[in-house]
Amino acid sequence: MSDTFKAILVSRDAEKKQSVEIVDLTEADLMEGDVTVAVEATTVNYKDGLAITGKAPVVRRWPLVPGIDFAGTVIESSHPDWRKGDKVILNGWGVGETHYGAFAARARVKGDWLVPLPDGMSPHDAMAVGTAGYTAMLAVMALERHGIVPDRGPVVVTGAAGGVGSVAISILSTLGYHVIASTGRNAESPYLIDLGAAEVISRDELSQPAKPLAKECWAGGVDSVGTHTLANVLAMTSYGGAIAACGLAGGMDLPTSVAPFILRGVSLLGIDSVMAPKAVRLEAWRRIGADLDLKKLSTLSRSIAFDGIIGAARDIVEGRIRGRVVVDL
Ligand code: NDP
Repeated sequence: MSDTFKAILVSRDAEKKQSVEIVDLTEADLMEGDVTVAVEATTVNYKDGLAITGKAPVVRRWPLVPGIDFAGTVIESSHPDWRKGDKVILNGWGVGETHYGAFAARARVKGDWLVPLPDGMSPHDAMAVGTAGYTAMLAVMALERHGIVPDRGPVVVTGAAGGVGSVAISILSTLGYHVIASTGRNAESPYLIDLGAAEVISRDELSQPAKPLAKECWAGGVDSVGTHTLANVLAMTSYGGAIAACGLAGGMDLPTSVAPFILRGVSLLGIDSVMAPKAVRLEAWRRIGADLDLKKLSTLSRSIAFDGIIGAARDIVEGRIRGRVVVDL
């Protein structure tokens, strides 16, 4: 009989009522792919929270093993780039949405989706970064491409105490930016300052309906909140600045005007991690290895057991998770 391993499975009944349970699977249960990986670490992202709670339609195949990212070791491969024993990372590509995902001790995926684990980084470290941190790096790279260097002025990070926010603050401060962190959890100010924030402002300052333009406060920013927050961030961006939009933790709408774009030349930079081309991923992970102070990873992450994933998924959609949550298998 094949060896079994633990997995989380989300299912839907005839009335489309969603449920989640921990089950035993075998490798024969996994979906098609040319590389099988022993998952050594995974993490709970906001999207995983949406998938497990059913709060948004992330899961598009039933039943499904959720989990959008993992790090581990190749145990079988027919893909030319990967051999048994290679250490790999996976982020996105529909894994945990339409393809069985990371919340299982084994994953079978397309080799084209994998990137190598950077030298000097363990699977645990890679998942302390996770999709949230890799997305934060994509946002920083987008700002840099737009010429938003530290000398241009401060940068704002919204949803600061969350996963994207915490890693963005760490990277931007290490690169020398003056970081203004916006949080709804004022008690987390010492944590945010420890990560490198120069100033902490209250989420309330950005959550009311925005005026077309407001006082110029920053040259750039990383927004994971959306809705009025992103509208205010845009209205408060200085001439020629840019904001990288990567999330919707506050809402999916964007109630803004064209004023920041046509009167101040502000740019809105869209960030997508899921379908990002391989060359972009390789560069983002190389930069994470180079520009993220690994010591800060222990400040911004904590470990939970596999059995804690479902609880952490519920917590993250309620905004109760600080930084990043790593699951070691
Ligand atoms: P987290 O839950 O860890 O962080 C989100 C943070 O947003 C919270 O910690 C909180 O920060 C703030 N927040 C939560 N609810 C609200 C609200 N109602 N109003 C204002 N602020 C709120 O999630 P992640 O960091 O993992 O992800 C952040 C967002 O980025 C999500 O929407 C996620 O889907 C998206 N994302 C997008 C990716 C992409 O490819 N574009 C990839 C990864 C994530 P605080 O308490 O400090 O205010």
